[in-house]
Amino acid sequence: MRIEVITIFPDFFSSPLDCSILARARQSEALAVNIHNLRDYAADKHKVVDDYPYGGGAGMVMKPEPLILAVEDLLSRAGPDCPVILLTPQGQQFDQAKAEQLAKQEQFILICGHYEGVDERVRQTVVTEELSIGDYVLTGGEAAALVVIGAVARLLPGVLGNPASIDSESFASGLLEYPHYTRPAQWRGMAVPEVLLSGHHQKIHRWRRKQALRRTRERRPQLLKQLELTEEDKQLLAELDAEASQD
Ligand code: SAM
Repeated sequence: MRIEVITIFPDFFSSPLDCSILARARQSEALAVNIHNLRDYAADKHKVVDDYPYGGGAGMVMKPEPLILAVEDLLSRAGPDCPVILLTPQGQQFDQAKAEQLAKQEQFILICGHYEGVDERVRQTVVTEELSIGDYVLTGGEAAALVVIGAVARLLPGVLGNPASIDSESFASGLLEYPHYTRPAQWRGMAVPEVLLSGHHQKIHRWRRKQALRRTRERRPQLLKQLELTEEDKQLLAELDAEASQD
């Protein structure tokens, strides 16, 4: 997988890409992240990439020419089917399903905006989709790009030590994940649930599923409504209801 990032702050990426799972993914060649300095595509000697907005108003706007030239240059090497993604608070909400879809691509391009955003003609000509990481406004698209890169990278084959962990994770199964415990079994009077110490895999599986259903119903009921419940799920939810009515 190759991810091409267009930015005016290439240094923003050095430390995050050199840490932990992203560093390992890049070393293993499962992932290549190429950072492109937008200023390299600016025509004038001062490498200007922004200008005042037509119509007046606060802030600057990223000029169309450097961005479009940068994308065209990358596409000439990548092929025309490569997704060109503009990071913007106005885009489709990035989620696990989108991360899974992107993880199947050979390559994609991320455009990091700044200032008031990018000239509308960039969207009209080279952008194929727009992604937002949430309903808030960041100073620039770099942090959003790292969110996308991080979520996609861990789904690539060979990147996680134990790929089975992906299947039970929050959102992958349509539920939030169950709570985790590690040693010690007792800490300041707080005990690890006994079933987890039992070694009984079926009981542990059932307990975890029940906790995942409980968490999801408490915190993200909308997710539960979208889930196709198994007979076991219905039974576990009924047990949770019965327990709640006893409280
Ligand atoms: N004026 C723009 C608006 O109201 O929609 C916001 C521009 S923001 C200050 C600058 C850049 O940060 C954007 O062009 C985008 O690339 C990035 N950005 C900000 N918030 C984002 C979000 N929630 N998701 C993705 N990118 C975001």
